Amino acid sequence: MSDIDFDQVIQAIRSATNRPDGDLILHEPDLTGEESDYVQACIKSTFVSSVGEYVDRFELELAEYLGSKKAVVVSNGTAALQVALHLVGVRSNDEVLMPALTFVATANAAAHCRAIPHFVDSHPSGIGIDVEKFRKYLTKIVEHRGDQAFNILTGRRLAAFVPMNTFGHPVQMLELKKLCSSYGIPLVEDAAESLGSTYGNRHAGTFGDIGIVSFNGNKIITTGGGGAIVTDDEELARRAKHLTTTAKKAHAWEYYHDEVAWNYRMPNLNAALGCAQLKRLEEFVQSKRTLASRYQEAFKNIQEIECVVEPPNTRSNYWLNAIRLSDASIEVRDELLSKCIENGLHCRPCWNLLSELPMYLDCPASDLSNAQEAVKAIVCIPSSSSLGVTDG
Ligand SMILES: *Cc1c(COP(=O)(O)O)cnc(C)c1O
Repeated sequence: MSDIDFDQVIQAIRSATNRPDGDLILHEPDLTGEESDYVQACIKSTFVSSVGEYVDRFELELAEYLGSKKAVVVSNGTAALQVALHLVGVRSNDEVLMPALTFVATANAAAHCRAIPHFVDSHPSGIGIDVEKFRKYLTKIVEHRGDQAFNILTGRRLAAFVPMNTFGHPVQMLELKKLCSSYGIPLVEDAAESLGSTYGNRHAGTFGDIGIVSFNGNKIITTGGGGAIVTDDEELARRAKHLTTTAKKAHAWEYYHDEVAWNYRMPNLNAALGCAQLKRLEEFVQSKRTLASRYQEAFKNIQEIECVVEPPNTRSNYWLNAIRLSDASIEVRDELLSKCIENGLHCRPCWNLLSELPMYLDCPASDLSNAQEAVKAIVCIPSSSSLGVTDG
């Protein structure tokens, strides 16, 4: 049995959040700024759907915030990933490298391109990618044909790599970028969770050939549902806009579409919400970082638990705070989860490994021992930005 004192854990969460009782959900949006005014103005304009000023404005302001040339907003983060993979050339029967420990959307986006996810291991901390292990793994499995990389074992092309910034913590992107470019493997950054995080002096989402972010209701800012494709390549951005808006040629009245495309646009109504939320992003990052340091303080004296903290050289948005149990097992993790939930603390495990879900069981994978440990050891704790706001 575990030595963890569950009551002490509950006490630590309660004291760090300054909420002695009541329900604390994992992550709730804060819509107490100008959100309502913006959405009302959008409704008044009657332009609530696929055209309108908020879409253009949100794209410009998001690109400006990130320091990237272009942002194209779409219906959700999964759609953004799928289109990003298509744009870097992922096609039927290709393989897409990605962590096994991520949200299912990362793999689904590849599957929707009719490609096969190829799972790699997390950093020993459980978050991000184990760069050295990945480097060695590529040496073993890659065969060059021309300027492209193929999997020696399956004969399939390795068409993209999708690192993911777990809970908001940026991966070691410069190393990964160098590695991928030496193999000719395009890089798509899944920054769905890391809007507002930086690595060195650059924003998460701006490191790959393309990056994506999500504005789902549980992310750091929300448009209700939504996502964005981020790139410095103007031609890729033009293609992204065209492909996500039914490939219609601009014309005063003609319906002329020049390829099979998607209707993945973000409605103006959602973009209005996004414009109001984006104004508050820095404030949310601040609150979440404050909350993270309070958690670190509160857990300092619990030896069997450590807080998941930002990697060196990064400034994380701490989208989700997480703790890591030493000596973990699924049983101890689940006992902790059920005790917390009984107490009104809506804690969650991290994901099941994607390589163990029925539709991805047969996909290629490297050794996943770090990720397997992380599933047992990591528990996400209440992380709403409002919990980090100091009273008074
Ligand atoms: C939220 C998320 C996405 C995209 O999600 P949508 O709900 O489709 O916006 C993709 N990848 C990761 C890792 C996520 O957490």
